[in-house]
Amino acid sequence: MIGAGSGGVRASRMAAAYGARVAVAEERYLGGTCVNVGCIPKKLFVYASHVAEEAADAAGFGWTVSRTAFDWPTLLANKDREIARLNGVYAELLDKAGVVRIEGRARIEDPHSVAVGGARYRAEHILVATGSWPWLPEIPGIGFAITSNEAFFLRELPHRVVVVGGGYVAVEFAGIFHGMGADVVQLYRGPLFLRGFDDDARAHVAQEMRRKGIDLRFESAVVRIAQTPDGLHVGTSDGSTLEADEVLFATGRRPLTQGLGLEAAGVALDAKGAVVVDAFSRSSVPSIWAIGDATDRINLTPVAIHEAMAFARTVFGGEPTKPDHEDVASCVFSNPPIGTVGLTEAEARQRYGEVDVYRSVFRPLKQTLAGRDERTLVKLVVDPRSDRVLGCHMVGPEAGEIIQGFAVALKCRATKAQFDATVGIHPTAAEEFVTLRGEKTRG
Ligand SMILES: Cc1cc2nc3c(=O)[nH]c(=O)nc-3n(C[C@H](O)[C@H](O)[C@H](O)COP(=O)(O)OP(=O)(O)OC[C@H]3O[C@@H](n4cnc5c(N)ncnc54)[C@H](O)[C@@H]3O)c2cc1C
Repeated sequence: MIGAGSGGVRASRMAAAYGARVAVAEERYLGGTCVNVGCIPKKLFVYASHVAEEAADAAGFGWTVSRTAFDWPTLLANKDREIARLNGVYAELLDKAGVVRIEGRARIEDPHSVAVGGARYRAEHILVATGSWPWLPEIPGIGFAITSNEAFFLRELPHRVVVVGGGYVAVEFAGIFHGMGADVVQLYRGPLFLRGFDDDARAHVAQEMRRKGIDLRFESAVVRIAQTPDGLHVGTSDGSTLEADEVLFATGRRPLTQGLGLEAAGVALDAKGAVVVDAFSRSSVPSIWAIGDATDRINLTPVAIHEAMAFARTVFGGEPTKPDHEDVASCVFSNPPIGTVGLTEAEARQRYGEVDVYRSVFRPLKQTLAGRDERTLVKLVVDPRSDRVLGCHMVGPEAGEIIQGFAVALKCRATKAQFDATVGIHPTAAEEFVTLRGEKTRG
């Protein structure tokens, strides 16, 4: 296995459990992107960024929170300690499974051999689980920008941050730095960020982020960055200049497949460098397989893990298994977060023609005493012919936790009538999903 990240670790353990002799090469960190510079530290930062808002809300509930002060080095040290613990857990999991760990950069020499350092390993099967890496545009001064990789290790909390990009990582970091007290400007070259998510959810989260004080600028790109004694000067496509302590580019990621010897071994790559695989994650070379971000299918940790399990079952379990990429739930940990599963309204219309849309926007109970004007959005997209719920979307506190449960319902092909027949839990925001009757539009 090449890469001990989300996919590679699970594939190694599962393959070993099926009785295979497994070695995994890792050049950087056990646990990969998710554990070290992705999901886990990101979510810890998200938690940290909500505290100021919660402290401010406390007054409405009768609490006096006398002083709030945030210390970035403390957060970083605590985060690093937790990540180091997780690195240890991953090492132990691999060792206990009998997987040989090889430290270093692996390179495929031929369809059955891999070199790491001076050593050469022969294998019946090779799995590429090398993940992805941030991609940066070539503009003057791009060397002054940081990516999410560096954002987790900054020595000081920046007071003025320009976030560039419109994907979920950009939106999440805008919320993180804003919540920690920084002035944040987020630039995105398109008309509205979070392409691929439901349009109502995108517009709703943009409105809420603006309400909280994040300066969102769409149809705007960074054209140059220069360093001056008082910080970074950021030139934008609309001719304005912004001043910042950090400029964070979250402008997409590319599969980490260069220099791996894939082309020489005959493995087909797409234009972005992703390994082209069939429905079983097999590449164009029968002994070489690929999963996770390296294949650029759905780039999320649980998907990489799911693909890993299907790979191990196929190759070592004697049960050919295709990973299932339908109805994968996900969450954008923005503030407020977006939880989503199934089709967006636009996708549903494209696939099914006419659809019914149920929507509710409301002020959650907790906000009433907190005195905040934040609104929650819940939305269902339904096929009127079969009554099946095709999409379930939410913007509001705990959206990820809530949508995870509804993802099971969608996987079971639940109908709107079954949603309606479900008795709600009161008072919750989630109950709105089973009481959506009014506000229906068809088209
Ligand atoms: C900021 C950020 C936040 C994210 N948040 C979420 C989230 O909230 N939820 C979610 O589901 N997903 C999230 N993701 C995505 C998630 O991290 C990835 O989809 C997931 O880690 C992919 O797993 P993987 O196994 O394909 O690759 P990785 O986890 O990246 O693992 C690849 C490993 O391969 C190693 N490697 C690469 N090349 C070689 C080589 N030649 N030799 C040896 N080792 C090599 C790398 O060092 C790395 O450890 C986030 C990503 C980022 C960047």
